[in-house]
Formats: sequence, structure tokens, C-alpha cells
Amino acid sequence: MTAGDGTTAPGGLPGRSARLRLADGTPGPEGVAFPPFVDHHVHLQMVDPDAAPRAGIAGVVDLGAELTAISALAAREPLPRVVHAGQFLTAPGGYPGDRWWLRQGSLRELPAPIGAHERRALPDPIETAVAEQAAFGATLVKVMLNAVAGPVFDRETLDAIIAAARAHGLLVAAHAEGEGMARLAIEAGADALVHAPFTERLDDGLVARAAAAGQCWISTFDIHVRAGEASALAIAVDNTARFRAVGGRVLYGTDLGNGELPDGVNTGELSGLLAAGLPPAELIGSLTDPWPLAEAAEWGGDALATFVPGLPPGDADELPAWLAAARVVPIENLEFG
Ligand SMILES: [Zn+2]
Repeated sequence: MTAGDGTTAPGGLPGRSARLRLADGTPGPEGVAFPPFVDHHVHLQMVDPDAAPRAGIAGVVDLGAELTAISALAAREPLPRVVHAGQFLTAPGGYPGDRWWLRQGSLRELPAPIGAHERRALPDPIETAVAEQAAFGATLVKVMLNAVAGPVFDRETLDAIIAAARAHGLLVAAHAEGEGMARLAIEAGADALVHAPFTERLDDGLVARAAAAGQCWISTFDIHVRAGEASALAIAVDNTARFRAVGGRVLYGTDLGNGELPDGVNTGELSGLLAAGLPPAELIGSLTDPWPLAEAAEWGGDALATFVPGLPPGDADELPAWLAAARVVPIENLEFG
């Protein structure tokens, strides 16, 4: 049994009505239990990793870290559960090589693929780098396509990285920033964009192509709010609204570790998702989506739930504040009605 089974909770939300049992066995608050909430974009090396579960987030997807550090964080028990992309893969001289916040060892510069005639004599740096991410337990790789801040991979190099990732059973997530970069990532077949595209309005055909390919877009709206970048926010919300309308898969993700963001369920992020047209059930779905894993059970959903005390509000605009009270709890501490 998981919190995602059975009847839906009040308000049509994909959860179950439940009562929390307190540590001394006495009945606690009534509320709603959901499958484990996941923040699909964090940098765990830059935050307090213990804060997330206290604030309702049971799992995190780390999208850029030093390999030894992130594999050690992923091996810790028990929470948050960590899935990671290993290092930032970028072109020589590319973003984020010059950033003050970059942790030593978290950047991997990759040259263009070597020619077939050289391949027998030399190890391929792309193949070597992807194999190393896999060896440290990565589930996906992260490619940096930031044309605003430096050189980026050309299509041939990107194709070679994606092919190497596929050969290791890894997904590919792209940071697309600057003119044409979202198009490059979509046409090359990246599995996810780590920020809902915020540089330019994507045409409907490109948006439909991304949705049809099953690409995921990770929201990260609140970083634009906090940076005071209203136009980037408006572009990201508009692109996401049209992506969602044609069946695109939208994931909750905050880029926690990027500037001053609150721990746990981020009300600003949720408000952005509502602004992009996600109805309440889809808003919850963006938090409980198991990507890049296959199902909630892999995030501990057989044993854990994210529990929100109280009844869900009737007004969708009040959902973010209600969800901000979420806590991760063992399912055995819940009584289902
Ligand atoms: Zn990030």
C-alpha cells in the first residue's frame, strides 16, 4: 500500500485522507497523505541536506556536484533520498566554469568527439566522462548549453554525449539558456530541460515536439522571481503553459542551492506552476512525479508518505500555503480512513 493508492482525497487531489499517529501512540492531526514529494532540481552540496525532509521533501534530484561528495550524500540514510547527475558537463571554457559558487571538482569540460581513425588508439574523453558519472552512481547526466555565458557543445558533440549516456542507461538533462539553446536540446533528444525555457518564446511546433517526445521540463520559476527577472519568469510561464496544454510533463523543481531559496516545499514555485495553468491534481503530480526513476516506490513510496495536515483549501490559490506545512512521515504512522 502506498499513499498514491485507492480513493482520491478531498478536492480531487491524488492522495489519501489519513490521520497521523503521534510518537506516543495518541491520535494526531487529520490530513492528506501523498506519495513522496520530490524536488527535481537541487544542488545538495550548497545547502543543508537535512532540511528537506523536515519540510516535506522526501527525495531530491541533484543536478551538478563533485562526484565523491554527491555519491557520499546519496549513500546516507535515510532522507532525503538522492538521485544525481554527477558533474556539470560543459564545453571547454563553458558555463559555469567562471562562477564563484562552483564547487571544486564539479565541472567536467568535454572536447569535441575524436575522429573514428583516432578512436582505436585513444580513450574517448566523452565516453570516459560519462562512464565515470555512471561509476559514481549517476542516474542521469547534465549538459550545460548556456550560450550567454560561454562556448557550448555543437550538435555533433551533444549527440556523442547523449549516445554515451544511452549506452550506460543514463538519462540526459540540459541547461538551455540563450537563443536557440532550448531548440538544440529538444532536437537532440534531451530527456529534460532543467529550467523551463526562459530565454525566448518557443514556437508552438517546437513546444509540441518536446511534449510528443516525452521531454520533461523542470519548473524553477522562483529563481527568476528572486533574481527580479520578471521577463524571464513571464517567458518561462508562457512556454510551460503551452507545453502543459499539449500534454507536456512538468516537474516541480526549485534549483535549491541557487541563491536564497527556502527549504522544502516552496510556495513561490507552486504559485508559478499554478500560473502556468496546472490544475490542483497536476500541481500535486509535479511534486510526486518519480522522474528520473520509474515509480514512487523507488523513492521509498512503500514506506514513506508526504503528509499535509488539515483539509485542502477549496481555492487553488491557497494550495501553496497549505502544502508548505508538508512533512515526510513513515506510512506506518498513518491511519487511513
Ligand atoms: Zn541548478
